[in-house]
Parts: sequence; structure tokens; C-alpha cells
Amino acid sequence: MKRPTVILRACPDYDVDRIRRLVREGLTRLDLTPRGRTLVKPNLVASGPFFPHAYTRPEFAEGVLLALKDRDGGMTELAVGERCGITVPTRYAFKNAGYHPVAKRTGARLYPFEEVPQVAIPLYHPGRLRDVFYTPAPVAMADFFVNIPKFKAHPWTTVTFSMKNYIGIQDDRHRLIDHDHKLDQKVADLQYITQPQFIALDAITAGEGRMLTPLPFDLGLVIMGDNQVAVDAMCCRIIGLDPMEVEHIRLAHERGFGPVGMDDIDLDGDVTLEGAQQKAEGFRTGLIRVEDYFAGTNIRAYGGPPPGGEVDYCWGGCPGAMEEAIEILRVFDKATDEKMPPVHIAFGRIDRPIDAKPGEKVVFIGDCAEYHGTIAGKPVQIQSRYVDRSQKEPLEAKHEDIFEKMAKVGFNMWRNRKVDVIRMPGCPVSVAEQALALVSIGGLKNPYFDPKISVDFTNCYLSSKTRVAAKRLMGERYNQTGPAERGAARPEQNLPPAGVPTPLER
Ligand code: SF4
Repeated sequence: MKRPTVILRACPDYDVDRIRRLVREGLTRLDLTPRGRTLVKPNLVASGPFFPHAYTRPEFAEGVLLALKDRDGGMTELAVGERCGITVPTRYAFKNAGYHPVAKRTGARLYPFEEVPQVAIPLYHPGRLRDVFYTPAPVAMADFFVNIPKFKAHPWTTVTFSMKNYIGIQDDRHRLIDHDHKLDQKVADLQYITQPQFIALDAITAGEGRMLTPLPFDLGLVIMGDNQVAVDAMCCRIIGLDPMEVEHIRLAHERGFGPVGMDDIDLDGDVTLEGAQQKAEGFRTGLIRVEDYFAGTNIRAYGGPPPGGEVDYCWGGCPGAMEEAIEILRVFDKATDEKMPPVHIAFGRIDRPIDAKPGEKVVFIGDCAEYHGTIAGKPVQIQSRYVDRSQKEPLEAKHEDIFEKMAKVGFNMWRNRKVDVIRMPGCPVSVAEQALALVSIGGLKNPYFDPKISVDFTNCYLSSKTRVAAKRLMGERYNQTGPAERGAARPEQNLPPAGVPTPLER
């Protein structure tokens, strides 16, 4: 069998012609020619001027698309597909990230994944979290899948390279299921949906420390490969991290998706691993407990264990979302920290005293929050209302849009305006909901109402809703899983007919 190859190329800037040449040379070195339905998956989790280092830059995407055309081996479609950060219409992300002119120049089609049919993919491997995943049809149908993530730190999974970029191949309803302390396992399970033929990481300006509002880190690299475990393992080594310490990489490796050892990977390119390591010296990842993250601010955070007794902290769920929420608010309101009154925020089961003074708000976030004790001298009982994941059915998952969330969080905070102890339900409670709660507590500027984004955001939101509704009226099961997919929830009834390849076998 061909050994996986990782290619490290120096690239000092976002020059489209240079990126095109480097990627074309990478495809040639790997002997890859795109064919059939060719789908490119960037990372557009957050984009535009407020989030300049969070996403795969349009110049990078354009270079990749042009290189794919240079190596055309019979493409029937060239497309870019993404589901950006939840609650934000992907139409808005494509526009804000500058992907519309790129699509026009390259002839690529843009797929907002939440607007297309969701297809059931059965899972059979031991230790899986679910029996079935839903993924957008363009992903399931792609003949040549290209992953073009951003090289970034991540507060939930330490890093986000190639494998973690798969969180964007699910719509909001399905993405939030198991987006908790099992997130790394979920990312590893997502690998069974499909594997990319080609990976090209935008590591020219990497994102340090955080995920939505990372600090720019001049890495000057394009990292390519034909196996995403090998690529992710190499990215880890570049920043001095043992790939086996990143759980989704370890799981994918142990399940046979690819190697992590240097002896099992061919390394190529004009930058050595040592050279890349020198460039990455000092790169900070994002795994910081919530208590430490808010040290020195008016927010006092308490992170208790989630249910199950396996871990003592919910990496992947509510605490990390709170860290991202405050960073977003700081971008939109520079006085966030000064405006915020003393507030206590608790996650999971809290077994230690919550030291709040009378009049200080205490917010219990997430279904698993639990506390039995006193707060400001009064007895407080917070019972866990956590529902085990085995009781959550993907087919029952509901989509909640941002305006519903605003209304729900706004009403909860208004109703409890004179109450010191508040609870926010959900598992997970999203970044958006936690940001909206802080807006209410601190009297901060609401990012969704910022005049620089609100008009475009609302237009894209309405456009997305209208298109989905029109497609439904025309009989297409867009943005929903309909009767035809119901059988897929029972994998034994959903085996592909003999001779029809599964997405993994294509
Ligand atoms: S409620 Fe939040 S903290 Fe608790 S398990 Fe769910 S995601 Fe984790």
C-alpha cells in the first residue's frame, strides 16, 4: 500500500498564483487528479473583518480551486461546501469571507450545507456514539473530496486541523448532538462518513490561542497530504504536541484511518520538520480550564464534572463556549470587561461553595449543572436535568434559529432580572446563547445588532429561509430528514445494495 505523504511548502503570503502553483505541484507529487463531483470544504466557522484569522482565506481557496482545474481528470462539478458556525447563515459566511467572487472566477458552485438534503450514513464500528450520522448530500455524493482547513488552536479539542474541520459537515441540529465531553469521539466517528483524497491546510497565517477570535501567527506554510491522520499528526509535531495526546487523532489512528509515527509517513516539500518547528516556536494551543481563563476578571467561573464519571471537565461543551462567547463580545464591545458586574458562572456538578455576595448573579449553565448548598446565605438546590445521549434521537433533533435563541435567552434573563440565581438549559448551551446572556447581564453591545453586520446578516438569513421554504414547497426535502431517511436510523436495514459503494469505498 502507498505510504501516506505530507508535504510542507513555504508560502510567505496569500498570493493566489503562488498558492495555485504550490497546490498543483502537491497534487502532481501525490499523483492525484480530481474527477467527478469534486467538493472543497474550507473552514468558515467565523469570517469577515471581525474574525480575520478564523477562516480559510479566499485567496487560499481560489489557489486550490484553480490548481484542481489545472489537474482536471474529468470533473463533472467543482463546488465549495460548508456549514459555518451555528446560527449564522452559511450564505452570510460565504459573502463575508469573500467567497462569491472566488466562485465566479473559478466557476465553482457554493453549497450552504444547511440548505441541502441531509443524508443518512450508517455507522457500524465498535464504540460508536450513534448508529447513524446525517450529512449534507454533496458530501455523501462527492467523488473527490478536498479538505482545506485553517491551522488553528481550539478551546475544546486543543487544535483544529483537518479532522476537526469535519464538524462543519453537519447541519446545526446534528452538529450539536454529542458536542460535549464526547466531542473528540464524535470527530473521530465523523471520519467514517468519508475521507478526503486531498488535504491542503491554510497555515500561512495560523490562528493561535482560540478558535473564533484567534491571534494571528505567522507560520508561512502550506501543508498538504493524502491522509488526514498523517497530516494532523504532522501539524501536531510542528507545534511540539504529541499527536496521541489529541484524542480524536489518537482514536482515528487506532481505528486504522492513518499513521501518526514519523517512520510511517513520507515527508516531502521545501521545508523540513525542524524548519517548520522553528517557525512555530511559541505557538499556543487553546486548552485552558474556564476557572483559569477568567482569572483576573469580574467573571468567576466554576467547572465541575459532567455526568458519567469518566472525566472531570466538559471539554467540548459549555465551558469552552463561554470562553469563545466573551472573546466575541470583547471584539464588538471594547468595554466588555469594565462593564461586566461581578458574576459567577457554573458548569457541571459543583461540590465546592459558590462564594457570591448578595446581589451578585450566579448563572448555572447547561442541563448537567448541579449544586446543593448555600449562596449568599440562602439555601440553593440546582438539580441536574441532563438527558443521557442514548435518549437523544438525531431524527428528533430540532433546528433553533438565532432569532428564536435571542427571544428565548432574552425572555429568560428578563424574567429573572430580579433573581440572583439563574439557570440556562441546554446540552450544550451554544456560544451564541452564552454571549446573549452576558450581553444582558453586562448591558453590553449585542453583536447581532452591530450596524456593520446586521443588514447583511438579516438579508442572508431571510434569503436562506426563503430558499429552503421554496424548495420544500417544490417537494424537495431540504433542511429536513424525511421518511426516506427514517429507515437509515436502523443500520441493518440501510446496507447499500450489493455492488453500490458506500461513501467510504468510493
Ligand atoms: S450540559 Fe454542557 S457542560 Fe453539561 S454535559 Fe452538556 S455540554 Fe457538557
